[in-house]
Amino acid sequence: MKTPIELDRYSCNWIGGERVQGMAAMEVENPATGRTIARVPDLEDEAVDRAIESAGQAFDSWSRLPAGVRAGYLNEWAQRLLDHSEELASLLTLEQGKPLVESRGEIAGAAAIIRWYAEEGKRAYGEIIPASNEGQQLLVYREAAGVVGLITPMNFPAATVARKVAPALAASFTLVLKPAETTPLTAIALFDHLMATGIPAGAANLVTGEAARIGARLMAHPAIRKISFTGSTRIGKLLMEQAARTVKKVSLELGGNSPVIVFPDADPEKAAADIAANKFENCGQVCNGINRIYVHEDIRDAFVAALLSRVRRLRTGPGLSEGADVGPLISGAALAKVERLVGDAVAKGGELLAGGRRLQGEPYADGYFYAPTLIAGVTGEMDIAHEEIFGPVAPVLTFRTEEEVVAAANDTAYGLATYVYTQNFARIHRMIRVLKTGNIGVNGTSLAYPQAPFGGVKESGIGREGGRQGLEEYTVLKYVALTTE
Ligand code: NAP
Repeated sequence: MKTPIELDRYSCNWIGGERVQGMAAMEVENPATGRTIARVPDLEDEAVDRAIESAGQAFDSWSRLPAGVRAGYLNEWAQRLLDHSEELASLLTLEQGKPLVESRGEIAGAAAIIRWYAEEGKRAYGEIIPASNEGQQLLVYREAAGVVGLITPMNFPAATVARKVAPALAASFTLVLKPAETTPLTAIALFDHLMATGIPAGAANLVTGEAARIGARLMAHPAIRKISFTGSTRIGKLLMEQAARTVKKVSLELGGNSPVIVFPDADPEKAAADIAANKFENCGQVCNGINRIYVHEDIRDAFVAALLSRVRRLRTGPGLSEGADVGPLISGAALAKVERLVGDAVAKGGELLAGGRRLQGEPYADGYFYAPTLIAGVTGEMDIAHEEIFGPVAPVLTFRTEEEVVAAANDTAYGLATYVYTQNFARIHRMIRVLKTGNIGVNGTSLAYPQAPFGGVKESGIGREGGRQGLEEYTVLKYVALTTE
């Protein structure tokens, strides 16, 4: 396969508006081949501190700029991403593996988020509260608190960066971003375009390197007043503990174990089409991807037949190849986890209807490909019903009563997304009330939009990304009791 882009261009970090090369290098792989495609800096502690300090120095002037001026930089950034979307999408697929069509959608989505926050930053309104005493004014200012540390995951290397950097800059925080080790190139390319807008030096800084070390540096530094993290619940908990030491504000977008409930009055064909699209997007590596499919016994056969025919039609292949619907997993470790979960389910009586194996030989080479998999007869005894799969595996469970399925759906430490298929209006309202989750999709599985507040409850996170609530995450309140007479 021909590499369409010059990868050496993306081997630098950005500190204080300057390109920085680290001493040691970390290798970036193409998950479709298992081969190294680039090296990025493994930044020394001194350079990470420099990034934090340069963000600290830039804060005063950045936060004094009129919101419209900040919006100008963001809008230009979004336009640059759109103007270079083909190259960015290819880069994203090369390091992350998802089909090119999905990468194109992600770049367009990232630009849409940035544009939305460019405008929303103009609406970070404060409040005036009626006072108790004559001659007094009670004012609430909404302002940024300094430098934010941003840590992003590997599954949406452009969208997760945009969902943090855009509201942070719009709300006038300055920032230091650390992208995932497996997918730093897209973040670096995005930063190249951000820097090309002429944004003031130090407002946005990017560092790559060993996660635990950089994370500890960000968490310990007193200038960092907020941390926004997207990734696994395990690391989120660790960061929350570390944040306590300097009482940083935290926003955490964490893992999930999202169920979908297909009630007997649902259209099995429509539910199967939506569920297949959600489940196999990005090879199942989506935080709000469906992890457990609960289907009512009465329509189980029709639904499973419809889903099976969709799973069988999926074409797996390198994301840059023509017509691939599903790409590789991100790493050998991700592949091993999927193999373990499927093995456990089958050993405990799960009925393997499609897939269930690693794909090897041409065109899969040494990439991390796993066949799109459908398992019926899944029960609560199986690990797959409890752990976040993060792979192309659809587990089907059945249920008889509404009470039983609600209890099962809620029986998890996670609370990110739940989906419901039913035509019954009263049931829809009951489900909205009883499901313990941050986001609900009713008769559809698309949830992430720039204007909507997405986020989890329970161990799926704290805070929201998207919408005006996503901007508020990057503001703190300053209350002033002003006596005028
Ligand atoms: P991850 O392993 O938790 O990594 C996420 C980020 O944390 C990466 O940048 C990683 O760096 C960094 N990290 C790892 N150890 C760290 C430490 N000790 N201190 C500071 N940072 C550290 O997650 P992932 O595999 O990239 O992403 C998948 C997870 O993210 C899934 O659980 C998924 O559900 C979740 N996710 C949630 C949302 C949401 O909106 N709720 C959205 C997307 C993904 P390295 O890569 O360098 O190790």
